Amino acid sequence: MPWLDGWLQAGIYALAALLAALRPLLVPRARLFWSLLAASLTTRAVAFAAFLFHVRRLDPVPYPSVADAFWLLSAVLLVAALVVLARESSAHPTVGIMLDALTGGLVVAAAAAVFLYAPLLELLPSGAGSDVVVVNLAYPSLDVAIAAAFIGVLASARWRVRGPLLWIAVGVLAHAVLDSVFVYQAAAGTFRPGTPLSALSALASTVLAAAAWVRPQLERRDNPEIEPGTGIVLPVAFAVLGWALLVYAALTPVSTAAVALTAAAVAVALVRTGWSYHQSRALAEQRILARTDEVTGLANRRALLEALEDRVRHPDRGGIGLLALDIDDFRALNEAVGHELADTVLEVVARRMRESTRAVDLVARLAADDFVVMLPGVSPQEAEEAAERVRASLRRPLEIAGGHHVITTSVGLAMFPTDGTDADDLLHKAELALGDAQQHGPGLRRFEPGRHTTAGDRRRQVERLQDGIRARELELHYQPIIDLDAGGVVAVEALVRWNHPERGLLAPDEFLPLAETAGLMREVFGTVLHQSTRQLAAWHANDHELGLAINVSVTDLLDPDLPDQVADALAVAGLRGTHLVLELTEEVFLAEPKRAAAALARLWDHEVGLTIDDYGTGYSSLSYLRDLESLQGLKLDRGFVAGLDGDPRGQAIVASTLELAYSLDLEVVAEGIETPAVHRHLWELGCPLGQGYLFSRPVPADEVPLDATFPVVDEA
Ligand code: C2E
Ligand code: MG
Ligand code: MG
Repeated sequence: MPWLDGWLQAGIYALAALLAALRPLLVPRARLFWSLLAASLTTRAVAFAAFLFHVRRLDPVPYPSVADAFWLLSAVLLVAALVVLARESSAHPTVGIMLDALTGGLVVAAAAAVFLYAPLLELLPSGAGSDVVVVNLAYPSLDVAIAAAFIGVLASARWRVRGPLLWIAVGVLAHAVLDSVFVYQAAAGTFRPGTPLSALSALASTVLAAAAWVRPQLERRDNPEIEPGTGIVLPVAFAVLGWALLVYAALTPVSTAAVALTAAAVAVALVRTGWSYHQSRALAEQRILARTDEVTGLANRRALLEALEDRVRHPDRGGIGLLALDIDDFRALNEAVGHELADTVLEVVARRMRESTRAVDLVARLAADDFVVMLPGVSPQEAEEAAERVRASLRRPLEIAGGHHVITTSVGLAMFPTDGTDADDLLHKAELALGDAQQHGPGLRRFEPGRHTTAGDRRRQVERLQDGIRARELELHYQPIIDLDAGGVVAVEALVRWNHPERGLLAPDEFLPLAETAGLMREVFGTVLHQSTRQLAAWHANDHELGLAINVSVTDLLDPDLPDQVADALAVAGLRGTHLVLELTEEVFLAEPKRAAAALARLWDHEVGLTIDDYGTGYSSLSYLRDLESLQGLKLDRGFVAGLDGDPRGQAIVASTLELAYSLDLEVVAEGIETPAVHRHLWELGCPLGQGYLFSRPVPADEVPLDATFPVVDEA
């Protein structure tokens, strides 16, 4: 039934066009791409309708016809859409991306030159008019352009083909293949309408349109490592393809253009491989540096939390004892013998701790003289025995500067899962127990619940905070974020303060933990959101086109109303989502990755992106975070930034973190810039943005130095 067949297909094309067109009308993000895609699909629908209702009824059926004109226009629009998508997928294309796109494009063009053009030209009847030749070559050329543009998109997206991009990939690929088959048939004069070929083509349009409504998913990976592998695999695959083509071209007579294209593809692929190798080495180096303690060579906090988190995720493997250990009077020792000798003491302590524990135990150093031992698979009694063994080994006299010294230690013990069920909590409990041990004379203490604050105190505090929020005692201070290259203020971070009538201006650390556990974060967030967006709108009205960063906690993000709340606040203030960025710490994704990702996707629909706050203190990996579509950047923790001053190891970590961030197309804000020397270092390393007391402390809105510039100054 050709009429049914035709109508059905026309309906499918029209439906696909409609499906795609609704997206830019309803969702602000990536409007240009979806508009172009919708235009392309609409043109396709028109092309099909023109063929069905007009061209097909002519006798003889002309080729090329007006339908071909629409068909080709649709392909041009698709290329435009893909170019826009490639640009949107990557704000700062890196060398790697551009090399990938170039190699891929060259391989596709070379393959087309060898396999597509030559046979097409042969197929043409000798007397074919120039219009036939042009159209016949236009089809495959546009297909090559689509494929090349699409490889650009894939490279920009770092070859992470999932979610909407997967659908787009399937749709584009199907279109390219089907169109090539079509042009073969048209050239050979074997094309017949109404075959499965046309039905598949309509289906491909639908797949493309459906991509508009697919949600990206954040996948939890078992192996939370950064995988540098992908950077190598694809260029190598392209290089191999290029070689194969080159060999084929050598064996068969093909045009010199094809040979030149193939050779170029191989050459670029080789350059790319070398570049990937260089980058993955830098990453591996950073991984090791970022996880070891410099003085003792032990694991650092990050490594400890990673290991702990990993164990906690598998409670079936038995309990865990966590010891927090502190050297008594270390500060006095440090002052007495000097910094260098004190470091030597720490090295000896580290060695003895390692020797007195089992191979499966993990010894880490968190700060000056704070050590932690993770004891997997122990009972509380075994944990206490292990603690005593460690303490005994440290009590053995130690020779320092000719004299003998005895070290005593205090140890706090917390058990998983009895005392805490997640890594942070467990560490906190062990530290509380350590505090107890220190207060009540040296020795070992196990964490005891209920020992630290009484319920009555807490209730009073919560009520006071509740009253404070209602009485509008929460205020915002703003700290400028500086473009390190130009020196100007590009954004501000809103930081909440509690202007307490009796206790004065309180920092967030002094009341947010309470708000968090007492369920008051929603009100805090609402206040911050409304005050800051109103303030930003006022700045914009005064010609200060700033961006705004606000901090979001786990509970905030998991509040199902948050995305709408944010969208409403933006609308009320007359701001766009691109003006706002949310700062999240990595713990958010460990707590509830699925729900967090869903909330972020809804915010991203309103163009609101996110940055990872305090990057470097957490322990989730970027390979996992980068699945978040709306991830715009990192805020490098001030612990790392401060380390830049004269410390080559700190410099290496910052440099490789910057490189990693660039290769993932992320912005970096360096936090806690306090000295001109650190400022200068960051600038030399190419860090784009910075924030810190050197430029301005967090201050009330009217004191923000909006017009100031902060040039890099030479060290005196
Ligand atoms: P953060 O988001 O990492 O904010 C940066 C903190 O570093 C601020 O502390 C800021 O005053 C401080 N800082 C900035 N420059 C320097 C510097 O050069 N040197 C030093 N030593 N410190 C610097 P603040 O205001 O006490 O805020 C502490 C944390 O409280 C914030 O860390 C953020 O995680 C949280 N916070 C602040 N406001 C809010 C809020 O509205 N909502 C939520 N959920 N959390 C907030
Ligand atoms: Mg922040
Ligand atoms: Mg921070």
